[in-house]
Amino acid sequence: MTYKRKKYHRGDTHLKKGWRTKRRTKDLDEIDEDLKEENVKKLLNQEVDFDKPGAAQHYCVHCARYFITNAALHTHFNTKAHKRRMKALELEPYSIEDSERAAGKGSYVTPQKRKIDTVTREDLDKKDMDAEPNAKVMKINE
Ligand SMILES: [Zn+2]
Repeated sequence: MTYKRKKYHRGDTHLKKGWRTKRRTKDLDEIDEDLKEENVKKLLNQEVDFDKPGAAQHYCVHCARYFITNAALHTHFNTKAHKRRMKALELEPYSIEDSERAAGKGSYVTPQKRKIDTVTREDLDKKDMDAEPNAKVMKINE
């Protein structure tokens, strides 16, 4: 006789997984705050911290993750996880105004879509280089 025990117990691992804090990173609204230019600069130029992976020198602002090498960071930019995150960040985060509108205050405004680009430290350096000629001109004018 074939005997197969029916599975009655599923446990709660699937629930626990969502609440694990070991690998917990920032929430999307916190990352939205990080995406402001002055914060991006700070995050991409962190001080060497040997407690963090790669001494905190290779950071993905969008995923709030550290990588051990520049190569690992760049392969990460091409992964599904990163692309999914970029898509998720395109929509502006849910705000208090949104909740008030949902409650009937004011009129409905469709959430704004915005263009999110992967920012790396090299990009920031390039930006600084572009900004420099102007800075020099300013000095001459003074
Ligand atoms: Zn990423």
